[in-house]
Amino acid sequence: MAARAEPSVAASSQWRDPDGVRMPAGEAHAWWPGQNQTLCGLALSRSRLQRFQHIPWTDAFPESGGAADAVRRVCPKCRAATTGKGHSRRRWSRTLPRP
Ligand SMILES: [Zn+2]
Repeated sequence: MAARAEPSVAASSQWRDPDGVRMPAGEAHAWWPGQNQTLCGLALSRSRLQRFQHIPWTDAFPESGGAADAVRRVCPKCRAATTGKGHSRRRWSRTLPRP
């Protein structure tokens, strides 16, 4: 299995962009596809978090401008778990550019 550079997003709510793509809303957590819990240890089923396998975690950060339009809160634990090491300031690649 190819290693992924970053986790995907799990969020408490969702909306659809004009293209019909599901986008995260509410509270966002980091989640590795295939796992049943977030990086901070929340069980997806019990927390009623929705999975956004197509949205890279870093796109949920408001400053990324990616898929964060409706994200109200980024889980600090998940964020610390993914940004604590390295601290690279690379540009996030946008997988869903808007027209
Ligand atoms: Zn979290």
